[in-house]
Amino acid sequence: METELIMIGTGSAFSRHSYNSCFAIKSESFLLLVDAGGGNGIFAALQKSGIAVADIHHLFITHVHADHVLGAIWLIRGVVNMVKDSLYSGKLNIYGNKSVINAICRICQMTFLNADYDKMADCIKFVEVCNDDIFQIQNVSFRCFDVCSVNVEQTGFRMTLEGGTEIVCLGDESLTLRNSCNAVNCDILICGAFCRYADKEIYQPYEKYHSTVRDVAVLAEMFNIRNLVLVHCEDDDLTHRQELYQDEAADYYSGMVIVPTDGERLRL
Ligand SMILES: [Zn+2]
Repeated sequence: METELIMIGTGSAFSRHSYNSCFAIKSESFLLLVDAGGGNGIFAALQKSGIAVADIHHLFITHVHADHVLGAIWLIRGVVNMVKDSLYSGKLNIYGNKSVINAICRICQMTFLNADYDKMADCIKFVEVCNDDIFQIQNVSFRCFDVCSVNVEQTGFRMTLEGGTEIVCLGDESLTLRNSCNAVNCDILICGAFCRYADKEIYQPYEKYHSTVRDVAVLAEMFNIRNLVLVHCEDDDLTHRQELYQDEAADYYSGMVIVPTDGERLRL
């Protein structure tokens, strides 16, 4: 079985027709979930993507914002309950920076039944990651880095699959001059592009600390990135979004641009 990138959600924080951006990388022996969206909609979104909670043992959270971290609270609650019913075995490893781990622990403590919170020690393992940390999940290696967001501490990673494919994730941050050194020459870059530059008056990406398709495309060409997967997008016109974004990017970028919708699977 080949490795797949499964886009569980593709929307930005306030998107109305998509779940918040999160994705999985999956092969026969490997499954990593990256971010969890903002609520218990994660369960429906996972189900639509054909991913069982019982199979998730590795979750990377890029930053502490509600639209990325609150779904993790629900996943933990789900795992705790499944453990009680012997439907989940092993541990859920949650990788994140210090503020992510702190927030998750505090929210769980404040909102779970005491017995459930105590049970977390048996089935949840927090792995705090710092910039430049290197770690391995099975045969896939990861290097973490600061994506240099201006508004929140956000941790990205560069992962190398067994076959050598290099995937870079910037969370919901765009490719910028501050973080592009981490994405140079990668095969696939998954990053935020809030809307087209042509629509910046409508969606006001810069006011929201986000950026546009054109901005990402210009830098992706400069830094020799082979394929772009754009997420965390506005979702007013899902039917034409991919085509419109591709048209804008094509003026600046010669690689492939994918603007997935929820549930879309891409072979790596
Ligand atoms: Zn976000």
